[in-house]
Amino acid sequence: KVRVRFAPSPTGPLHIGGVRTALYNYLFAKKHGGDFILRIEDTDQNRYVEGAENYIADSLSWLGIPPDEAPQIGGDHGPYRQSERVDFYKTHIDQLLSSGWAYYAFDSEAELASLRSECEAAGETFIYNWRNRDGLNNSLTLSESETSRRIAANDPYVIRFRWPLDTFVRFDDLIRGSIQIDGNTLDDKVLFKSDGMPTYHLANIVDDHLMGITHVIRGEEWLPSLALHCQLYKAFGWEAPEFAHLPLIMKPAGKGKLSKRDGEKLGFPVFPLQWKESKGYRESGYFPEAVLNFLALLGWNPGTDQELFQLQELVDAFELDRVQKSGARFDPEKNIWFNHQHLQLKPVSELVALFRPVLSEKGLDASQYSEAHLESVISLIKERASFVREFWDLGAYFFVAPKEFEAKAVRKQWKSGTPDIMRALYDVLKSTDPFGAEHSEKNIKAWIAENSLGFGMVMPPLRLALVGALKGPQIFDIMELIGKDETLARIEFAID
Ligand code: GLU
Repeated sequence: KVRVRFAPSPTGPLHIGGVRTALYNYLFAKKHGGDFILRIEDTDQNRYVEGAENYIADSLSWLGIPPDEAPQIGGDHGPYRQSERVDFYKTHIDQLLSSGWAYYAFDSEAELASLRSECEAAGETFIYNWRNRDGLNNSLTLSESETSRRIAANDPYVIRFRWPLDTFVRFDDLIRGSIQIDGNTLDDKVLFKSDGMPTYHLANIVDDHLMGITHVIRGEEWLPSLALHCQLYKAFGWEAPEFAHLPLIMKPAGKGKLSKRDGEKLGFPVFPLQWKESKGYRESGYFPEAVLNFLALLGWNPGTDQELFQLQELVDAFELDRVQKSGARFDPEKNIWFNHQHLQLKPVSELVALFRPVLSEKGLDASQYSEAHLESVISLIKERASFVREFWDLGAYFFVAPKEFEAKAVRKQWKSGTPDIMRALYDVLKSTDPFGAEHSEKNIKAWIAENSLGFGMVMPPLRLALVGALKGPQIFDIMELIGKDETLARIEFAID
């Protein structure tokens, strides 16, 4: 059974890249009828940020890609917080120590710094491995009894992985293909720290194994660690999972990786939910479906022209081998376009529910409007909206009479004869009954024809009177929705 995990460190809010990693894991799991696990990698106590874990869980649930196993909901392979799994790591590091794959090292920061500068002076980069071990204060040069003595004396130490001499590590990445690394170029990485906690590398491998992870899908920034991870699996005698490293998400313009600051500079969200002063997608009015659709196509394509996907369609279409190797450019305009598209696909009743709070924010009593009324208004204007809040910008005149009129339009369309025409129109409309769009359209047109008035003399001033500007949907639809009394009142106000 396919089992994948999203394994964020709770060091801050989940950002766009993390969300995409979570999404691809989710899609892959669901496509294969597997499990999607949330594991919190919180062994680095210095970088722990209060609230980040809840933020991650809330984000996944808002987005609609909830995990099957997680700290909050449990599961058969828990606990799902690494800080609660330290005993597992201790047992496993002991295993590596006794099989010789790991060793104690007592080098102080100062000693390491001086070795580093020696190397630099000689024009080399310092690599902490077999080549340099001899000059160091570690158990490879210390006798066993000396090592035990220093441990007993509470000398600070770390436990490092022992890269074997002259090893080539070969492994396959599902996205990048086959990779080969010369082990002699790698450091003996720290696996266990002096604070009694494992490093990411050890905890990550032990957990992926114990949790039965079959596929590791994560960001490209972890590719350099893959040689060590594969070697660790060998050291434990375990079969490694499959790996897939996702491409970077790049800035909208220029070079480099997308950063939180790019979002702030250009005024678009990079977090799912509000985090401190930074508004998230949710607060900015994005639909989770639109965010997922946008992110799914940031580095993956379905191999067809289809761009609009609901989550289940993404699950059906998703394949890891259609994930690209090169960076994917983040395009905030495209993100808005997806929101626009998903807004059009939403049932109008759902849009009404989202719009009512906007009406209240504008100081109106939202409960005075019937469901049917708001559905009609939204159906008339939604085509031009990308966000629910824009219904107000596009259609405030459905709710409040215009008090000001667009000056340029007034100059062009409100002529000296207009008040008389509007007065006559007022009478026509007053006797129009019923006041439905079709009926009033018929009446107005007949009246225009009878009096040989011409459309241009009637319709633009009428629109100005009702809307305040020369914009909006069919004027007869507007009249029907605001009703006869309001229509007449607005015409009267405009004449004065
Ligand atoms: N804790 C790592 C992170 O924050 C997980 C990397 C991985 O998926 O192996 O990204």
